[in-house]
Amino acid sequence: MRLLSPLAGFKGDLIRPGDATYGDARRLWNGAIDRYPAVIARCADADDAALALGYARGSGTPVTVRGGGHNVGGWALADGAVAIDFSGMREVLVDARHRRAHVQPGALWEDFDAANASLGLGGPAGIVTHTGVAGLTLGGGFGWLSRRFGLVSDNLIAADLILATGDRVKASEASHPELLWAIRGGGGNFGIVTEFEFELHAMGSQVLAGPVVHDRGRAREVLRFYRDFIETAPDELSVYVNLRTAPELDWVPPDLRGRPVIMLVPCYSGDLSEGARILRPLREFGPPVADLVELKPYVAHQSMFDATVPHHWGYYWKSHYLPPLTDAVIDVLAEHAWRKSSPASYTLVFHLGGQIARLPDDHSAAGGRDAQHAVNINAAWPEGGPQHPDVEWCRAEFRALEPNSTGGVYVNFVDSDEGDARVRAAYGSRYDRLARIKARYDPGNFFRGNQNIPPATPAGKVSS
Ligand SMILES: Cc1cc2nc3c(=O)[nH]c(=O)nc-3n(C[C@H](O)[C@H](O)[C@H](O)COP(=O)(O)OP(=O)(O)OC[C@H]3O[C@@H](n4cnc5c(N)ncnc54)[C@H](O)[C@@H]3O)c2cc1C
Repeated sequence: MRLLSPLAGFKGDLIRPGDATYGDARRLWNGAIDRYPAVIARCADADDAALALGYARGSGTPVTVRGGGHNVGGWALADGAVAIDFSGMREVLVDARHRRAHVQPGALWEDFDAANASLGLGGPAGIVTHTGVAGLTLGGGFGWLSRRFGLVSDNLIAADLILATGDRVKASEASHPELLWAIRGGGGNFGIVTEFEFELHAMGSQVLAGPVVHDRGRAREVLRFYRDFIETAPDELSVYVNLRTAPELDWVPPDLRGRPVIMLVPCYSGDLSEGARILRPLREFGPPVADLVELKPYVAHQSMFDATVPHHWGYYWKSHYLPPLTDAVIDVLAEHAWRKSSPASYTLVFHLGGQIARLPDDHSAAGGRDAQHAVNINAAWPEGGPQHPDVEWCRAEFRALEPNSTGGVYVNFVDSDEGDARVRAAYGSRYDRLARIKARYDPGNFFRGNQNIPPATPAGKVSS
């Protein structure tokens, strides 16, 4: 008698070592990651994910989950594991009347933005459109609209999950509210999400946005101006700071390409004439060497930086949450940011606060509500491969900023070599509650191919 394969009925693709597509299928955004899963289960629907999970459990094989495949630590794949791959499930359905988006787990932000753009609706998203909705949302998530509408995960109102047992549940305020609390920032620790439901907001399709560029030599005065300017910024305005080499891209004036620069990048999404008035001092200060602020579709601004972080380059990141910039932080940024050797490496200062900070710290698992900024020090090298001298640059700038950090870090900016202490730092006072929820929903720590939160022990203790 022939035994039925536990994966019989799987409708998507099962890709194994030796298959012609295996090499491509195991590539992630970060070309420094080189992992060999036992099978890549590219799902066609949620039932496929349940089958793959059942197979992994039955065979005692570890499991990983891939949304957009962008996590810098490469958690979407592990050697010898079953990789549940959602890259074939990218549909976004918008219910405009109820202002809801139903999003499949392989959708990218470009899919989300495209579905909303013509409807006068939107919601906070990551600032690079080829990043995955799933991992970004599950880690908390912020972008240009977050000061206005909150963290991405604050806008997650429900999710369908497959638990470690194979049971299917909906997490919402009405059903498994603790699970909803946990997946709004607690990552892939609690189950496999097969559909996200987001609240959407009415917004215009145009924003006033783009880089205001200064030479590196003026970094200190520009950063001090920036610190004062954003003190009175309305929620409709975010201003990010990018300390880098001006990239070789069409939108960069030719005489600036390759020059060390500091870019203040505003994105104003409210009333546009009011925006023009608010942005005037920012555009006049200096004066800048280039003012690339313009009225443009929000989706155009969203994708503006996509080409600066292409797939399959080598990347290594380190990050802190920061309070309002002190002179000490400004000195560190001005001294370290350009000590890199790769033109593609950069330091990016995200602007938080606004609606993010208005919710209490324990509103959800996500952190960063007490921070004014997240700083991401990004070593990037086009040659790919695991090693580059800028990894040391990145670590040095990280260490120099450490005394000025809030002590917290955004979990999605933690690289895979940073250890459990860093995951604890990401969750702070919310960690113990997460460990208890983990013990309820995944007591065997089946979902551990991630920034892991081990389950609290039966006595309620959190394992160290
Ligand atoms: C170029 C770039 C730009 C970025 N910009 C931003 C930004 O503006 N704002 C921001 O907040 N973050 C940003 N990030 C960080 C981003 O949030 C993380 O990299 C995130 O992990 C990406 O999600 P993903 O689905 O693409 O990743 P993946 O690597 O596919 O997934 C990461 C992890 O999430 C979990 N996961 C994924 N899908 C599921 C699922 N369906 N069910 C359960 N668990 C799942 C798994 O543990 C998985 O290993 C950026 C990252 C990159 C590379």
